[in-house]
Amino acid sequence: MARIHSGLSRDESRQACRDYLDGNLHFLFIAPERMRVPNFPGMLAKRKPALIAIDEAHCISQWGHDFRPDYRTLGDYLPALRPAPIIALTATATPSVQKDIAVQLQLQQPALFIHGFRRHNLAIEVVEMSKPRRNEFTASILKSPASRPAIVYVPSRKAAEELASVLGRSTAVYHAGLEPSVRERVQRHFLSGKLEVVVATIAFGMGIDKADVRTVVHTALPGSVEAYYQEIGRAGRDGKPSRTVLLHSYADRKMHDFFLERDYPAATELGRLATLLNDGFQMPELLRQKLRMDTESFNRAAEKLVSQGAAVFDIGGNIRSTGQNTWRSSYDTQLAFRHSQIDRMVAFAESPQCRMSALVEHFGDTADGHRPCGQCDFCSPEQATAQTFRPPTEQEHRQLRSILQSLQGGTSRAVGKLHSDLALGIDRKQFDSYLDALTRAGLVMLTPDTFTNSEGVLITFKRASLTHEGRTLSDSEPLELLLKGSENQKAARGGTKTRSSGDSARGQAVKRSAAKRTEAAAYTPEQKHLDARLREWRKAEAASNGRPAFFVLTEATLANIVLARPTTLSRLLNVPGIGQEKADRFGAAICSICADRTDAGGHGKSSMQPASERVATSASHSKSVSRTEEAPASSSETFHRQRTTTSAPAEALAPEQQQLDQRLRDWRKAASEELNLPQFFILGSSALRSIVLARPRNITQLRAIPGIGLEKIEKYGASICEICNT
Ligand SMILES: [Zn+2]
Repeated sequence: MARIHSGLSRDESRQACRDYLDGNLHFLFIAPERMRVPNFPGMLAKRKPALIAIDEAHCISQWGHDFRPDYRTLGDYLPALRPAPIIALTATATPSVQKDIAVQLQLQQPALFIHGFRRHNLAIEVVEMSKPRRNEFTASILKSPASRPAIVYVPSRKAAEELASVLGRSTAVYHAGLEPSVRERVQRHFLSGKLEVVVATIAFGMGIDKADVRTVVHTALPGSVEAYYQEIGRAGRDGKPSRTVLLHSYADRKMHDFFLERDYPAATELGRLATLLNDGFQMPELLRQKLRMDTESFNRAAEKLVSQGAAVFDIGGNIRSTGQNTWRSSYDTQLAFRHSQIDRMVAFAESPQCRMSALVEHFGDTADGHRPCGQCDFCSPEQATAQTFRPPTEQEHRQLRSILQSLQGGTSRAVGKLHSDLALGIDRKQFDSYLDALTRAGLVMLTPDTFTNSEGVLITFKRASLTHEGRTLSDSEPLELLLKGSENQKAARGGTKTRSSGDSARGQAVKRSAAKRTEAAAYTPEQKHLDARLREWRKAEAASNGRPAFFVLTEATLANIVLARPTTLSRLLNVPGIGQEKADRFGAAICSICADRTDAGGHGKSSMQPASERVATSASHSKSVSRTEEAPASSSETFHRQRTTTSAPAEALAPEQQQLDQRLRDWRKAASEELNLPQFFILGSSALRSIVLARPRNITQLRAIPGIGLEKIEKYGASICEICNT
């Protein structure tokens, strides 16, 4: 193996080239910039490689979020190295970038492999918050030791310094303005654990592989979903539960518009420079003086011409024209593309949808199935740490009902019109928050639509309609949903006038956790244990059915169960919050958890680990209730839910299937212990049951089983098939 880079001496580089030509190397690593060195491509072509691998391939595309011009010219050098196959790898490419990579590399009918975008251990939260409150809020999130190590991304150096001073010790800033030695030290200390929090501009994280980052916070809206995804991807690489929090508001959009204007000078400025260029290299300073441009504007214009391929720099920084004069239209396209990236980022932050599914969809991972993650602030609002959610008041409850009633006709209705027609006495923002809550609860679906107004401008708006669940919800069934505890509503509810608006959210969060603590403190150790196991089960149940956790059981109902500890269905039915439907679906599982007092005194691992397992097995032995799930019907319209079919009781399994079931469980247990993850993270009980029933002999057969994502198949497919084949 050899690397060739600018840090090597001439002799070392020569030796690496000799080793390559003599066939002594298995791998040769080079940066794309190396291809510009005279004679280097020719040297490579003397000995054809067996494979050409291009990492970070999104840099090839000018539609990628960190486009590098030298990547784009790679395509010109490849024909000489053929017939080696080419593989281009990236962890962050949208469908348009994927296409562009293939075009730029001149690949003929390339095979595309798009998967693995879903990260199962990330709980994503998006919080709308005014700018002045964000630093203090970030500090409150990072207060708990469990939320560290953490990376906080901020929009500027100044913002980095400000936030770091609020966060205090064990925090360092990281940005491009620091000395290389300082940056290196920050990275080293963060990796070793000496530093717990790094406040960084986007410059931080490239090439950093710290496995145990627990939290990633963005204190402002990132410039693209691709950059955002890459940055939150630095959390939880060890596979353990991790959290990401994005803070944003309308002001962020304006900030991006400002940056765009600054970073993309007008095409006329580029044009002025372009007309001065010819095919001989000229000194930039002389050109700048002729144009009477300030240094910054000049540099930007020159940079843009180079990245559009209309000009090149030599090593001394002199510039000449390439003769290409089609740069203007591609520059316009690129600018429009940057605007659309910001639009999509804003849409991501504002759309009521499972955050993880939205990301997976963004990257065109069509094989994923798009089931809700069960962990983000949309799927599981009550688990959100950064955002406060609350049950609706009686009045709000009535208003929510009237929205549902008004949609009963069956057709979709424009949201703005619906708001004015209903005249509920609430402003549009609050009305939208109601619709978001109804969407989160799976009762309402919002779809975008457009119309052209009298001036010929295309206007986008949203339509609301009922989902299957919304249509079939009876008036007597309680509305199980949570509203966002927004700044306005808190102020409107009054009583907290003495508190500055700056810490009202934190105050809420603190109040909430204090309430939780008193509740928990009132529990006996046995009740606490039951509470933990019920939560564990609820999480697994929610994950396996693609439901938000509170849909399975609300906090209040869960507390009632802990207090009543029902061990029979009739007792369970007496618990407030449990209706016939819930009893039918979850009764067996809940009662068996309540009845099981085996390790009631136990703490830590023994109580954590087998909860979902125990539930699944004991529930399947209970004959009193059949665990039939409702028919999926058309509820897929909001969530694209993929529900596994009824899990038949264990008794119904043939002896051979029972053996397979046991072997899979043994393997799952071993795998979960090895990876230190809950068992349902390895394989949910319903997925396990589906495998037992289908007994897939190879990966293709395994893929055909619903509920098993590609990431799982990649990780465990071989083991599962091996078990099924023995
Ligand atoms: Zn989700």
